[in-house]
Amino acid sequence: MIQRGNGLQVVVGLGKSGLSAVNYLHALGYPVAVTDAGLPKLAEHLPTDIVTKFGAIDGELLAVADRIIISPGIDPYLPVFDGARAKKIAIVSDIQLFHEVAKQRDIPIIAITGSNAKSTVTTLVGEIVKNAGFKVGVGGNLGTPALDLLLEPIQMAVLELSSFQLQTTTNLAAKVATVLNMSPDHLDRHGNMLGYHQAKHRIFQGVQSIVVNREDLLSRPLVADDMPTISFGSNAPDMNQYGLIKDSDGKIWLARGRERLLNEKDVPIKGEHNLMNALSALAIGELAGLPLESMLTTLKNFVGLPHRCEFITTTHQLDCFDDSKGTNIGSTIAAILGLGKVYAPKGKKLAVILGGQGKGQNFAELAKPLMDYAQVVYFIGEDADKIAADLASAGLDAHNPAGIVLTKCQTLEQAVNQAWQDQPTFPALGVLLLSPACASFDQFSGYVERGQVFQRLVKPQ
Ligand code: ADP
Repeated sequence: MIQRGNGLQVVVGLGKSGLSAVNYLHALGYPVAVTDAGLPKLAEHLPTDIVTKFGAIDGELLAVADRIIISPGIDPYLPVFDGARAKKIAIVSDIQLFHEVAKQRDIPIIAITGSNAKSTVTTLVGEIVKNAGFKVGVGGNLGTPALDLLLEPIQMAVLELSSFQLQTTTNLAAKVATVLNMSPDHLDRHGNMLGYHQAKHRIFQGVQSIVVNREDLLSRPLVADDMPTISFGSNAPDMNQYGLIKDSDGKIWLARGRERLLNEKDVPIKGEHNLMNALSALAIGELAGLPLESMLTTLKNFVGLPHRCEFITTTHQLDCFDDSKGTNIGSTIAAILGLGKVYAPKGKKLAVILGGQGKGQNFAELAKPLMDYAQVVYFIGEDADKIAADLASAGLDAHNPAGIVLTKCQTLEQAVNQAWQDQPTFPALGVLLLSPACASFDQFSGYVERGQVFQRLVKPQ
């Protein structure tokens, strides 16, 4: 029988981060137990002397814990945690453990969150730090679980953090922290926008410097006036801030104050939203003390991550972009505006494929960007009708004044074939964009498979 007070660490949820927490605590010599609602596959990788309770989260085990380490996929407000909470047993994320070690070892943390663009910016900042000559660990919500990064002698950590991880992290004390943007997501877990906002803004607890998005007030924390702060945005920047300078001849420059740093043509990641991502990375790098020249060289060589507005090929007169990772309205709006603003000056319009599982979102907000930049819209998947109805409620219906053609297709393949057929009818049609604003699980194993299918359709091997 395990008694409370013996230092017992109970890990809840045995995914990748749960396993890293078990291994980390076990290596430190703590007694460790793990519980999971299912029968996790990773159980076979556990050290042999770990107590396991699978099939349901074990409330009795939680009640004798000294500390509970909860995986991001699990809601800490489930009733099974009530007993532990009543006994004031700490419920923390793996990021909390990471923070404790980072503090001891003096490893600065660059902490990145937001509704969208986290992975792109985290990866880019990781490259920037590496190319500046530091041994860097990049992970967290993306790729390697944070605690596994500590297996190497890293000098700096770049962490992508989700609202779920932040909900159970206290006083992270990052060297630089940012909330890149805020749009509704995961409201099923956080209750409402306020709860989501509060979770995200925990990233600023104890922070030393911050990066804010000038165009998104919700990204700005309440901090003292003397907090070192750099902003980024798509407008021309004030002194010492980052932004875009748009010349009258159509040229767009990444700029710091009035200094033009790089022409948009030399940045391989496309769309205005990606230029914002590049600017946020420069601001973060500056606050982390990294040299500008090496940051700019990194930017020129960074091709982005797969399935995020990834340029695939040009076929049937259409530049094809795979944005399968666009799984919520905010990311799809960014993709439509981002590409739309680049192609509109060339007289080109978009064909946009939307649909899948809608996660209860209201799609009406997509109507305006579509009316501004699209020529045709294809609806696929489970929530095709719901999306069409939401758009119609915002004026984008079969009789819309912009003359946008709306077509329901059952599958991604039908939508792509329809685009080939439609292009000759609409000579201005220059882009085919898959950015579904939905989850993919009705027709695919995940956004990766959905993106791969799209890529094969537009660019057969
Ligand atoms: P996350 O890790 O936050 O999901 P990703 O970098 O994987 O972010 O990008 C996810 C999607 O977000 C992309 O497919 C793209 O459509 C969208 N996106 C990328 N940059 C931005 C941005 N600056 N603002 C809004 N959406 C963006």
